[in-house]
This record gives sequence, structure tokens and C-alpha cells, in this order.
Amino acid sequence: MHDPMHDWCKEMWDFPRSITGEGVRQTLSYLTNLVPELVTHSVPSGTEAFDWTVPPEWNVVEAFIDDNNNGDRLIDSYDNGLHLLGYSTPINAIMTREELEPHLYSIPEQPDAIPYITSYYKPRWGFCVTQKQRDALGDGPFHVVVDSTLKPGHLNYGELIIPGTNTDEVLLSCYICHPQMANDSLSGVVVTASLARWLLSEPRRLTYRILFIPETIGSICYLSKHLDEMKQNTIAGFVLTCVGDDKKWSYLPSPSGATLADRVALHVLKNAETLSYLTDRGSDERQYCSPGVGLPVCSIMRSAYAHYPEYHTSLDNLDFISQKGLSESFDTYKHCLRILEANETWEMIQPCEPFLTKHNLHSGVTTAESRADLFLNVSAYADGTMDLMELSNVIGANALQVDAVARSLFHNGILKKR
Ligand code: ZN
Repeated sequence: MHDPMHDWCKEMWDFPRSITGEGVRQTLSYLTNLVPELVTHSVPSGTEAFDWTVPPEWNVVEAFIDDNNNGDRLIDSYDNGLHLLGYSTPINAIMTREELEPHLYSIPEQPDAIPYITSYYKPRWGFCVTQKQRDALGDGPFHVVVDSTLKPGHLNYGELIIPGTNTDEVLLSCYICHPQMANDSLSGVVVTASLARWLLSEPRRLTYRILFIPETIGSICYLSKHLDEMKQNTIAGFVLTCVGDDKKWSYLPSPSGATLADRVALHVLKNAETLSYLTDRGSDERQYCSPGVGLPVCSIMRSAYAHYPEYHTSLDNLDFISQKGLSESFDTYKHCLRILEANETWEMIQPCEPFLTKHNLHSGVTTAESRADLFLNVSAYADGTMDLMELSNVIGANALQVDAVARSLFHNGILKKR
């Protein structure tokens, strides 16, 4: 089957995303086509959430730098949304190179990259350009236009609650505020949308809370409305971002590194680079894991934010991610969610080993190999004190295999659920 995730990235590529504005609403509207059950919400500018206030809404008509001598367009935000510093205030002026210079941003070490820079809370304007473009600008004078508005409006986000038979909840959170970058942000959005579609198509034990929010201010707003229920119900959560390339695996633990989410991630991931919450945290886990919130949230990533040279530049583009990377990330998260669904605690009903031959669970031939048989190992450790994941780690087997064995022992009246 053709995997559509890379196509979804392409189709959402040009929406002018930021933490507020038309691009966020276009993105949410696109996502609602993919997942019709998604509910969109809006929070007015000026709303207070803990120590923060929802900023004015930012929208842009156009932004460019022209050579004022001949009218040549030198830099145009239509060519790449990253050219305009995010949340730039409006300007329309003729200026010299010297006057323009403090408003230009480039990366000398990456001469072909446009940097991604924002100023959400301090009013300023600026243009982000490649070093090559900067070097070729000339002396001016320039006609500089940022036709933007910063007005009272809304912060928008999408929320999907998929109820299970149990009120225990899994949180999946991704952010919809990054313009024209693929691995950081957009890859997480499409993998989350795919997971939502998969979860909606299957019977479930657990409840899922799936969020498409602007990073930082979005999670802070959301927590300010839903903190008590989330603290009460969330058993595990993940921030989905940087899941689009196929170069490596990274794991960002929760502050304790020992929550259920961490344990699942560690069980599923092989050969992942383990990052540090102290030095590497960078997305909405900063809010979900903060003191007073303390949700069990970690992050499974491919090339993690701030750990690849293309990060927060125009080089984090649709070529940087791949269908393979997106699919593998989707499968890995699916694996985690399957284990969470199966993560129950099993207990032997009778003392002593079960007579497996009687239950047709033993080949009848006693060899060294058969003693190591999963059935006997599960029977040997299922004392009602370990959940599936701990049991699997002790036995050294994959949790879903152990789950299948435990269920078969359960159907034969040998194990019970605790
Ligand atoms: Zn970012």
C-alpha cells in the first residue's frame, strides 16, 4: 500500500504556519480532512495561562526586499516562508545597507541555508537569508516591505480524544507551528495523524488524547485547561517530532527516565542514542514534565532537534525526510502503543509449574531448548508483581510475544489477570 505520509507533508508544506494565524488554521483544516473526528478549538489573544499570555494573532500578506535602484526583487517570502522572521512587525521603508544590516540573519558556516528565526514576544522585524544571498545583496538603497498584521485574534489547536474501555490515558502531542521545515515539526504531525487513524480503526483498552498544538504556548494553554484530568489519567505520553529521516534513532527520556513511557520506549528501541532531559529537552515535554504537571512523557525521535546541521534551517526540507523514515517511525510508535494496550499484570493461578503437555502447550520432548520455552518462563515469573513489560525484560523477550504466550496460558486457565 502506498504510504501517504510524505505526500501529506508536501501538501501542507506551503501553509504559512506560526504559533497563530491563517497557516495554523489551514493546517488544522487539512488535518480534519485526514481525521474527521479531530475537534478544533480557539483561545483568544490575551488569555492568560499560568505565567503566559496568548499573543496577538500574526498574519502576513507579503514581505520582500527590493533593490530600490531598479526594482529587482532580491528576497521574497513567497519563495520561502523562512525568509521572514516569524512574528515580524510591519515595515515599509527605503533604507541603506547599513540600516538593513541589523535586520538580516544568515549562517556563514552554512552558506546555502536560510535560518529559522522567530520573535514571538519581543516586537521586531527581520529577514532570514542564505549567506550567499546576503553577500550578493549589494549596497542598496533597498525598498523593504513587511506587510504583516499583529492583532487580537486566536490561538488554534486540534484535539482528539479516543475513548477506550479504560480511563487510563495515553497522550500523543505534536506541534503545528513550524513553517516549511520537514523533520522538525511536520514529520511529527503526519505520523501523529497516521497513528490517530490507526487507533480509530481498532478496538482499544486505553483512552488516547491526541493534540495538534502550537509548540510551547499551545501546550501551556492546553495544560491550563486540562491539567487535573491529565494528571489523574495519563499513564504514558509522547511528544512526536523529528520522526521523518531514516538516519538514526534518538530517545529523549522524561526527567526521571523511569516512567511507563520511558520503559516502553527503551523496550522497543534498539541502538538509539539516549539524550539527556537536562541538556537536550527542547519541545513540549518541557511543559508536560514540568514541576506541578509531572506527566510521564518522553520522546522517540530519529535525528533529534538541535542534533543535525539542517535543524532550524531551510535544509530541513522534504528531501531530508523519507517515506522509509516516516513509516519506520509510525511502526515504532505503533509497537509502543500495542505494548501499552497489552501491559497488564499476570499471575499464576496454581502453585508449581503447569503441566503444559496436558494443555497441548508442550511438544512432549524435553530438550535444553524446550526448558527455555517461553511458556515455562512466563509461568516461572508471573507472580502478579510485574507488569508485562517488566516480565518481558526479566525473560528477555519481546513484550508482544510474551503477551501472546500469557494470553494463551490465560485461555487455558493457567494464568489470571491481576
Ligand atoms: Zn523547532
